[in-house]
Amino acid sequence: MKRKLKTSLITSYVLLALISTILISILANIFLENQFKDYVINNQKNRTNQIIASFSKTYIAEKRWDVAVVENIGVGAMEYGMIVSLYSPAGKKLWDAREHNNGICEAMIKHMSQNMISHFSYWKGGYMEETKEILVNSKIVGTVKIGYYGPYFFTDNDLAFLKTLNEIIILVGVVSLVLAVIVGIMMASNISRPIVRVISTAQRITKGHYKERINENSKIIEINELTGTINNLAENLGVQETLRKKLTGDVAHELRTPLTTLQTHMEAILDGVWEPSMDRIESCYEEIIRINRLVGDLEKVARFDCDNMALDKTKFDLKELTQKTLMNFQSEAMNRKITLSFEGEQTSIIGDKDKITQVLVNLLSNALKYTPDGGRVQVLINSQKDCTELFIKDNGIGIAEEDLPHIFERFYRADKSRSRKTGGSGIGLTITKAIVDAHGGEINVLSKLGEGTEFYVKLKRS
Ligand code: ADP
Repeated sequence: MKRKLKTSLITSYVLLALISTILISILANIFLENQFKDYVINNQKNRTNQIIASFSKTYIAEKRWDVAVVENIGVGAMEYGMIVSLYSPAGKKLWDAREHNNGICEAMIKHMSQNMISHFSYWKGGYMEETKEILVNSKIVGTVKIGYYGPYFFTDNDLAFLKTLNEIIILVGVVSLVLAVIVGIMMASNISRPIVRVISTAQRITKGHYKERINENSKIIEINELTGTINNLAENLGVQETLRKKLTGDVAHELRTPLTTLQTHMEAILDGVWEPSMDRIESCYEEIIRINRLVGDLEKVARFDCDNMALDKTKFDLKELTQKTLMNFQSEAMNRKITLSFEGEQTSIIGDKDKITQVLVNLLSNALKYTPDGGRVQVLINSQKDCTELFIKDNGIGIAEEDLPHIFERFYRADKSRSRKTGGSGIGLTITKAIVDAHGGEINVLSKLGEGTEFYVKLKRS
């Protein structure tokens, strides 16, 4: 059954308070009643001993049984629920509480029985008698019979005490329940308020309001993490949306130039302004090739995007892979008299070998592409404790400072006319960065126009 957070929290707190109160009440009653029972039984024994001691004392003082004093002791014992009768050593009855006032004795026993039955529904008890000898100087001077309600009994005061105790427990229970509800409501609103905000913000984000942010500052760490994550999500979605819009614009822009050229050429030929000479057809053909290359590049980007960069990770040596990749560039470097050097030690990393090869190919082809003949391209691998660094440095044309922050963006070309000649469409570095990011790595660039460029890639070690 689905419930609101508030209801769940309050129910749990109330249940907890209820269970605790019931448990405390049961345990307190069991424990206290046992203690109380021992106390009452002890008391009864003490009183019996006291009565015997009082009888001996009066006998020692009087050297005989003074009925008036005996009656005093007997009446005093009745106040504690004890029915006393005293006999001489010869068995003659000297004083009997029942004879003194049988009505009171019967009423007393009945009252005690009622007390116990009112407290214990399962109670089994009744009138009991104990006979004790009264000794003076080791001589039996009399026998006392003490009758009481047994095995033990609670007086009105005892019962009142137990009743008060239960009333206190009930009061504590009621107060705990009220507190549980209040704390439950407070806790629930503390937790649910930001969650409700998160839900409504997330709903607005779903509808495309990517600028929406949650400013709730909760004392609960997890809630803060949740709001932070939703804010990041909104931020990322906003960036993605901007990129998507930019991409559409960029693609349209990239396609428009060759298509317009083609259109004007064709129109001129159709209108008879131009002869369909070999040169004209060749020029149109080149534009078609450019459009085709562009579409090919778009497919590549789409593939990397759709792939969501699923990595087929294995453990391999980056030095070996770099040297192998470098071999493919050696003939071009030789033809253009570019010095291609490598330095580095063995370093194993865990990653997608094909995709890391793609990174090397993109960076190396750029380095060669943007380095004039006779230049220099250096590759360096540096193995650190927990990461591997790859440097690809050239002394080529370099990148202008204003272009540097954008070179990893899609279709960004530092120098459009020059890149057009070199055939670049500005997606190589976008793909390179995406691959490095997917590996949890880092890519950076240092460059100075006219002096050269250095790409730096940091990858986690295995
Ligand atoms: P492209 O296919 O145009 O080379 P990239 O994404 O690989 O696209 O690079 C983006 C731009 O960054 C390039 O157009 C170029 O202007 C610049 N660039 C990349 N690498 C270098 C380099 N080694 N030297 C100079 N400029 C570079």
